[in-house]
Amino acid sequence: MRRVTILGATGSVGQNTLNLIARDPDAYDVVALTGGGNIAQLARDAVALNADIAVTAHEDRLDDLRAALAGSSVAVAAGAAALAEAAARPADWVMSAIVGAAGLKPGLVALEQGATLALANKESLVCAGALVRDTAARHDARLLPVDSEHSAVFQALIGEDMAAVERIILTASGGAFRDWPLDALERATLAEASCHPNWDMGQRITIDSASMFNKAMEVIETHELFGIDPDRIEVLIHPESLIHALVGYRDGALMAHVGAPDMRHAIGYALNWPERRALPVERLDLARIGQLSFAAPDEARWPALRLARNVMERGGLSGAVFNAAKERALDGFIAGRIGFCDMARVVEDVLAGFESDPGLVDAAMTLDNVMQTDHLARIRADEAMAKRAR
Ligand code: NDP
Repeated sequence: MRRVTILGATGSVGQNTLNLIARDPDAYDVVALTGGGNIAQLARDAVALNADIAVTAHEDRLDDLRAALAGSSVAVAAGAAALAEAAARPADWVMSAIVGAAGLKPGLVALEQGATLALANKESLVCAGALVRDTAARHDARLLPVDSEHSAVFQALIGEDMAAVERIILTASGGAFRDWPLDALERATLAEASCHPNWDMGQRITIDSASMFNKAMEVIETHELFGIDPDRIEVLIHPESLIHALVGYRDGALMAHVGAPDMRHAIGYALNWPERRALPVERLDLARIGQLSFAAPDEARWPALRLARNVMERGGLSGAVFNAAKERALDGFIAGRIGFCDMARVVEDVLAGFESDPGLVDAAMTLDNVMQTDHLARIRADEAMAKRAR
């Protein structure tokens, strides 16, 4: 039996992961499940999958979790330290599906115990790509991409030499506002930004898809994960979301990964790797689909893409600044404090502010420095938002 832990089990990726595990319960020994505020779901899944321990990130919800699991054999714990302890429990495979920079430390801890880390939490690579890679290398642990685009690239690279790769093309649906007039974007509401045309995902990543911050993060993730220069990573608008990524080789060939927009594809691939096993995903009928469409991205509509390129050029801890400012700006948009287009302006303001004190961005990439930079960038994002508040 494979020992598995799911960090962020109550979220969209976490639930899709449990859906696959529950189909073959005898194959898995569930070590730990972690969640945040959704105590009922966490408790239900911990009992159904007979987990050793269930952990909520919120210390003040420990009693609720204990009550929900009373009479079961599942141990309970709460708080950030308990999350890290859960990630340290020996496991063969750990899913990193906490949303935000909060996923960085538990993911690093899982790598330190040598587990294979299935990485959905793209923020880890945006904030601290070198630290994540070095930790994996030092502990002989494997990183497997779960973001559908990166899983697609990973699969299109099998058997190939990275030296033969000319470019990597990430596709993007264009999100909720692909066809909106530019001036209407300023008035986009939370409800409008929270609907994705093709994918069913958590609210935060759905809004990040509309602003293209999600793709911007994925470009950085591609750079960190595959070691390819930023100017060889392209973004292509592909409204149908059926081609997830393409790898272009030096002989001109393009290898595309094509599949239904269902996260169980990429999650299942990481779960079964290096085998390919049957997955309960739709089989595409290309004759019925008929045609696929593509367009170049409009950087005036999506300034996040330009900001990501600046971050990759700048290097150091600028990814941690970018991510933290983006997370706070997103909180601000969700709370109605700033408008949709203000999110990119806030991130740009915070990045520019750090340039007046470059020592901060050039500090060594340790977990402490990343978290301190993250903290400071959030404070500065709050200040930038206060100036733009509606
Ligand atoms: P969700 O918001 O649906 O779920 C997030 C999970 O993290 C939940 O279990 C949540 O708990 C938990 N959580 C929230 N805040 C904290 C915290 N501070 N500390 C610990 N746990 C916390 O997110 P998604 O599943 O959509 O995304 C998860 C990650 O995967 C993100 O990094 C995202 O970018 C990436 N990803 C997601 C995809 C998708 O299809 N959804 C596709 C590709 C990548 P609770 O809900 O109980 O509060």
